[in-house]
Amino acid sequence: MPETVVDLRSDTVTRPTRAMREAMMTAEVGDDVLGDDPTVQILEARIAELTGKAGALFVPSGTMGNQIAIMCHAAPGDEVVLERDAHIFLHEQGGIAANAGCLARVIASETGAIPIDEVLASIRSENIHHARVRLVCVENTHNGHGGTILPLDYLRDLSKSVHDRGVAMHLDGARLWHAWIATGTSIAEWAAHVDSVQMCFSKGLGAPIGSILAGEADLIAAARRHRKRLGGGMRQVGILAAACLHALDHHVDRLADDHRRARELAAGLEGLPGVSVNEPQTNIVMLDVGEGLTAESLLAALAERGVRMFQFGPTRIRATTHLDVDDSGIARAVEVFRDVAGRMAGAGAP
Ligand SMILES: *Cc1c(COP(=O)(O)O)cnc(C)c1O
Repeated sequence: MPETVVDLRSDTVTRPTRAMREAMMTAEVGDDVLGDDPTVQILEARIAELTGKAGALFVPSGTMGNQIAIMCHAAPGDEVVLERDAHIFLHEQGGIAANAGCLARVIASETGAIPIDEVLASIRSENIHHARVRLVCVENTHNGHGGTILPLDYLRDLSKSVHDRGVAMHLDGARLWHAWIATGTSIAEWAAHVDSVQMCFSKGLGAPIGSILAGEADLIAAARRHRKRLGGGMRQVGILAAACLHALDHHVDRLADDHRRARELAAGLEGLPGVSVNEPQTNIVMLDVGEGLTAESLLAALAERGVRMFQFGPTRIRATTHLDVDDSGIARAVEVFRDVAGRMAGAGAP
């Protein structure tokens, strides 16, 4: 293995900076299950304000935030509508069924925005035979579609139609920060159209752990109970909340650099035989390989040269820019990728 590794597998691989560790070390703490942690309270109040919601709840992971939201909105036997490649559907181990007892109805889309007419068609009339659709989940930015941004107009129209039918909306905003920085549309403007929103501090903001669920007061009170039941009640967790506050202060504006680097990475990989590159909207570059190349063989060859990316399917690769990859890392990734893919395609790989 080469000494310096350019790790583009995920924006979760970042390590806390020295300044973040210092903020953690000096954080005021208390037992948060008993409501005594002042730093957690500051973080929750700050996110409530940022989202324009009444309250927020600090949770260990984005998965737990999403799962708790579903448990708040829907009861066992209820149906939840989601996009087919949604993280909640694909990457949370069937928690919709296992944790919330709900059915998932998935709808395919091109870019992560499920067609509104299909969402409405899935909300059936009241009938003793039917499961009740209680919740529609959306994801912004959309991980599975390559960090795509939901258009704000779309979210507004979807939300109005869904709410008119008495159904709630949850936003999986693990990377909503990226939508904010890429478009200038504030977190509150996105969140205004949903009843709950989950955001991660460990996705590109550089915190070691931590996500947050925001919503109205009743929802947050219910969420606090569900969090405890799932084993997510944490004690002197201001240590982690301090890392998240530090991330909010120092690591949000710089996401624009990650977006620029993703565009540079995509441009650098353009035009290789057997490789097609999606134009990135935020910090995720999706690559599709063909002509005898497989994601697995290409990733293995890249890793030997110290460039790591993530397999997203048999022929699909995801590369994610983040705090711990600078301009020279991107240049190196481009150089190594072009060399490796060029050779493999030339050799009639794999
Ligand atoms: C990563 C991610 C999550 C889950 O976050 P964890 O902290 O890894 O549990 C949820 N939704 C999306 C879109 C994600 O990318």
